[in-house]
Amino acid sequence: MNLDTLIRKNILDLKPYSSARDEFSGEAMVFLDANENPWNQPYNRYPDPLQRELKEKISRIKEIPVDSIFLGNGSDEPIDLLIKAFCEPGIHHIIQMEPTYGMYQVAAGINNTPVRRVPLADSYQLDVPAMLAAVDGNTRMIFLCSPNNPTGNLLRKDDIEAILYGFDGPVVVDEAYIDFRPEGSFLPLLGQYDNLIVLQTFSKAWGMAGIRLGMAFARPDLIAILNKIKYPYNINILTQAKALELLDNADEMSQWVSVLVKEREILAAQLTNLPFVEKVWPSDANFLLVKVKNARGIYNYLVSKGIIIRDRSRILLCEESLRITVGSEEENKILLQALQSMLEV
Ligand code: PMP
Repeated sequence: MNLDTLIRKNILDLKPYSSARDEFSGEAMVFLDANENPWNQPYNRYPDPLQRELKEKISRIKEIPVDSIFLGNGSDEPIDLLIKAFCEPGIHHIIQMEPTYGMYQVAAGINNTPVRRVPLADSYQLDVPAMLAAVDGNTRMIFLCSPNNPTGNLLRKDDIEAILYGFDGPVVVDEAYIDFRPEGSFLPLLGQYDNLIVLQTFSKAWGMAGIRLGMAFARPDLIAILNKIKYPYNINILTQAKALELLDNADEMSQWVSVLVKEREILAAQLTNLPFVEKVWPSDANFLLVKVKNARGIYNYLVSKGIIIRDRSRILLCEESLRITVGSEEENKILLQALQSMLEV
């Protein structure tokens, strides 16, 4: 993949903003370079723009070199930056599978970038020939999501590789839910495919959605482009400090994952027994896609009981389908009791 021909020319030519902390980083006796207030430590200081300490820790956990890691305000940030970097508004388009996570299309829309949507095939797996047939000279990116939201399934490894092999532009594999199925990750293949970009997040299995921290992994020259166009201090000091602390909780995270996976299977089995449930799709994530009779009615009934799920019925291939996050044992019981009480109404 040749970045010089794929990245927008204005981005290639751009001279990035150089912040005080870019020009000098390290120890000093007196910092008078950033117009900060000398009091109110440590909040008075701007954060490290490249989050070096945090990236070193992530690098050790993920076994990926620091210069192949980008950190964003959630993984939503790199989604937006990637489209900005590669797609000339109104000219270049992206390709995504359908159904999938909604932010690719929104980020593209903000950038006036058209989206070609290719329906998934049987069992919500990729239609590789249709995806590759949608590629033309103005395709700048293909977004894949595995495990996919809202369908919950991991995509087949061979299919993702066929896309990586068959398209010589950037292929994003969004692995927001991969901690629930770590053996399915494409991170180990980063060295093998120079057009692979893997997105992961601390919002799901790691339990840190509130601090907003997402990751993009790719070859170093592509990471450098993202660093060039991001807001200078995109990860605040509270998030950097809290993430450094919470990343020591890897054992607890694994514990949460195994409980949630177990709870998911119990919930799936019990949902299957309800007469208005037509299908519970197999899930590799922390949610279930459930086809029902009268999705809107069930959704509204649950809202009236103070239980909020998502009605995905208006999405292509998800007709009459609800997406239910797997909660704690107690939360799942409350949900099931409410659903059972519907039968008595
Ligand atoms: N990708 C997928 C597939 C998601 O489902 C989500 C969150 N719903 C995200 C990315 C965004 O995650 P973050 O909180 O890191 O922005």
